[in-house]
Amino acid sequence: MADGTETESRKLLGRLREEMASEAAGQERLDRITHLIADSIRAEVCSVYLFRDEDTLELCATEGLAPEAVHKTRMRMGEGLVGRVAQSGKVVNTPDAPSAKGFRYMPETGEERFSSFLGVPVQRLGEKLGVLVVQSREARRFSADEVYALEVVAMVLAEMAELGAFVGEGAALSPLHQQSVQLSGGPAQEGYAEGHVWLHEPRVVVTNPIADDPHRERERLNEAVEELRVGVDKMLEISQGGDKEQLQVLEAYRMFANSKGWMRRMEEDIALGLSAEAAVEKEQSQARARMGQVTDPYLRERLADLDDLSNRLLRILTGQGNTNGADLPPDPILIARNIGPGDLLEYGRSLKGIVLEEGSVGSHATIVARALAIPLVVHVGRITTEALNGDHILVDGDQGIVHLRPEDTVANAVRDKIAMQAKAQERYASIRETPTVTRDGERINLVMNAGLMADLPSLNNSGAEGVGLFRTELQFLIRNQMPKRSELVTQYQRVLDAAEGKRVIFRTLDIGSDKVLPYMKHVAEPNPALGWRAIRVGLDKRGVMRMQLQALLRAANGRPLSIMFPFVAQADEFYEARWEVNKTIEREKRLGHILPETLEVGAMLETPSLAFAPQKFFDEVDFVSVGGNDLKQFFFAADRENELVRRRYDTLNVSFLSFIAQIVERCNSSNTPLSFCGEDAGRPVEALCLAAMGIRTLSMRPASIGPVKSVLLRADLQSLRKIIADARHRGEQSVRPAVMEWLRNQG
Ligand code: PEP
Ligand code: MG
Repeated sequence: MADGTETESRKLLGRLREEMASEAAGQERLDRITHLIADSIRAEVCSVYLFRDEDTLELCATEGLAPEAVHKTRMRMGEGLVGRVAQSGKVVNTPDAPSAKGFRYMPETGEERFSSFLGVPVQRLGEKLGVLVVQSREARRFSADEVYALEVVAMVLAEMAELGAFVGEGAALSPLHQQSVQLSGGPAQEGYAEGHVWLHEPRVVVTNPIADDPHRERERLNEAVEELRVGVDKMLEISQGGDKEQLQVLEAYRMFANSKGWMRRMEEDIALGLSAEAAVEKEQSQARARMGQVTDPYLRERLADLDDLSNRLLRILTGQGNTNGADLPPDPILIARNIGPGDLLEYGRSLKGIVLEEGSVGSHATIVARALAIPLVVHVGRITTEALNGDHILVDGDQGIVHLRPEDTVANAVRDKIAMQAKAQERYASIRETPTVTRDGERINLVMNAGLMADLPSLNNSGAEGVGLFRTELQFLIRNQMPKRSELVTQYQRVLDAAEGKRVIFRTLDIGSDKVLPYMKHVAEPNPALGWRAIRVGLDKRGVMRMQLQALLRAANGRPLSIMFPFVAQADEFYEARWEVNKTIEREKRLGHILPETLEVGAMLETPSLAFAPQKFFDEVDFVSVGGNDLKQFFFAADRENELVRRRYDTLNVSFLSFIAQIVERCNSSNTPLSFCGEDAGRPVEALCLAAMGIRTLSMRPASIGPVKSVLLRADLQSLRKIIADARHRGEQSVRPAVMEWLRNQG
């Protein structure tokens, strides 16, 4: 192969295939493979280094280095030339290894005799498995053909590892996907779950990486690519005139599907002896490795498109469909790189937990998972490559930790936590009907946040006294096109029917920022959270606002109705919106529709500016609800979506609590009912302090009502107020430590 001929390479792959089919145990097989490669590439040394754990590489087999070093020589990721190859995922090819950057001398191997070094990563679809190295005495740079051939061999090694070829007596490698792993991510919806992995997009398994008839393989590849192209063209045809971004993605698909470079590289892989599917996977692996290094969001997206296209091609070639024919396990934990809200809703409450490799705390999928109260962890690196369908898995949505194939001790500890949670739920059920009155006699209203029909059964189960925030945008977000007015009427009617007379506050469409409607023209904004969103969109797009107001009035059909406008930054915005409500009422009256028995129109206070609005505003608005999630991000100038800062400032910071107290005072001065509907309302300690500051209505996720009620029933708000005031006077930044101590002393 030193002269780079295809036949040599094919011969080597043919011998590797024989190895795969042989009866040999793992270590023996690996030893024979290093011998085969060294022989074929005419190098004195061939070594295979494999990962022992996430950070440690171990010399697992060698031809040419000291045999005693096998299973002894280890290095960390990034350490030495081998570690550099592993870390960067890139080839290192040097005629003079000792003077190359990062070289580390390992005396036990006897490698000082070898001058040239060629190391290629062994990786499979972004999963780093090890490094394949050849070395020779003669100081020479390996040719491009040799590098390429070794990459092909590394690809086959990765496939063999995936198929368990190196596992067995004297195992060089522990079986893949069998060890227990703990992975961390970001908590997006609390709660614990135990179940079995359900891969939203199952991995395609390539069982035949090597083929001996390149003509046949090339034909197979061409046929599959043709089928893929026809499929993409069809999708494009259907999408014409539709959403621009979707069209752009499909155009990118078409570009890749017709890319000569992509085809050429795959055909070259086939010429060297890979099967068509292995060639696709090799290119996919390299694209994934590049994805890890590219920071430009546009390029990353294009690489993700290519990845998706490769998956489609693999499915065509292997005949493995989307579901692999497997059945959803009885306690499924969904694993995906990302998932849209529509797909998630289709799974619905059947899911016990969700783990996403990407995702984000504010994504639509997260909103849906929260509404369904399914524990969710996002940003869990490697989860889609580590997990296999049916694997035992535990999800800790409170801490953002995932235990895949856990040891018994870990599983038992998590089970204990689950049992404690269930016990607490039982306790909460027993106080469901008890009105929330604190020990010193203050009556607090606990209402719930909702947004989907799926939320409404919680009205009864949780003991909520009504819906303090119905996020109407969720109905818009989960569809592919703008809903019709008649559809909205039906939706809102069903909500009011399900509420059985309990008050529901409908918040008008709150889109923009992180909530982008797929079918509305997307405006690229430098700072979407400070941009064209919520009531700003409503006032600029009056047609949509009117349509929604009409739908709400018709759905009420004579029943009491409460409407709330989001993100009101100045009083005029509220007056204008209320003027639209009045106009709509007049129109509805003229059309002969029955008007609501009572109508209340409120505003969400989500920007500090509204707290300083003229008194007239507080006199005229029917009610105010603090949107704490947004208010806090603007108060502290800390993006609620940005992991780097979103937890930096405490809600119990004295500045924020003083600000809340001011808002309470302003509302009290005009007898304007005030509620708080951000996430903090559902956190027991925060809820206590908000109540102590004078907030009398808290709106939260249904699952939080029990825990919040339980602490409020035991609390004396008068003495808590004193604790908060004292901490403030002492000059403390946050009252949390003092409040926590007070709670501990209360037992
Ligand atoms: C808030 O900002 O606190 C709020 C309830 O609105 P959302 O989280 O939907 O922006
Ligand atoms: Mg908000």
